[in-house]
Amino acid sequence: MAQFLKLNQSLMISDNLKQVKSRIDSVQSRKKVELIAVSKTRSTKEIQEAVDAGQVHFGENYLQESIEKINFFKGSGLIWHFIGPIQSNKTSAIAGNFDWVHSVDRIKVATRLSDQRNPALGSLNVLIQVNVDREETKSGVDIENVGEIVSEIESLPNLSLRGFMTIPRPENSQNSFAEMKQLISKYPNLDSLSMGMSADLEIAIKNGANLVRVGTDIFGQRSYN
Ligand SMILES: *Cc1c(COP(=O)(O)O)cnc(C)c1O
Repeated sequence: MAQFLKLNQSLMISDNLKQVKSRIDSVQSRKKVELIAVSKTRSTKEIQEAVDAGQVHFGENYLQESIEKINFFKGSGLIWHFIGPIQSNKTSAIAGNFDWVHSVDRIKVATRLSDQRNPALGSLNVLIQVNVDREETKSGVDIENVGEIVSEIESLPNLSLRGFMTIPRPENSQNSFAEMKQLISKYPNLDSLSMGMSADLEIAIKNGANLVRVGTDIFGQRSYN
């Protein structure tokens, strides 16, 4: 019985991945769209199943659990994206273990990430998190302050500023995604827009997203315990 359940589970993850990829392919986009499998709370076994199905990009929110997983998969060629809120005392571990950081929202954090990035690892790819709906409870830079933080980050030696990330209010995502598309068009040297999750990835891609972050529709419902 246990054997049977295990088999079912891995079939499920690879089938889910196929479905999400075909949803992505169904939307016309001028850019190549990269699927990031959000693996927060998931075990190395679940991640392995996604890897076996060809998945390369993974997103994590919680530093402690993510470092364990990154170490477990060392040498497998996976690309790790930090997508959670950043406490400034955690920047060293983020700079040392991740390939991308989507959630940079203040210059202090950006400066620490640059100072603590080992140049031998190459530049750390960063996105500025934008609080597009001006929600008080959400982290991110307000749109009118983006210009200033862009030029500050561009001057940091060990970071490569690639673009923006946003988590809009679900009921307003169409407008918010359009606003982000407008915003990035003002910065021709930025090439990445991280937006769209399980529920709204099609609308995000139509508005120029090239990094979509999907958890639930790949791995099933999360349980936090
Ligand atoms: C958890 C999370 C996701 C994935 O959300 P799902 O609804 O599980 O697809 C995407 N982005 C961020 C920033 C997250 O924290």
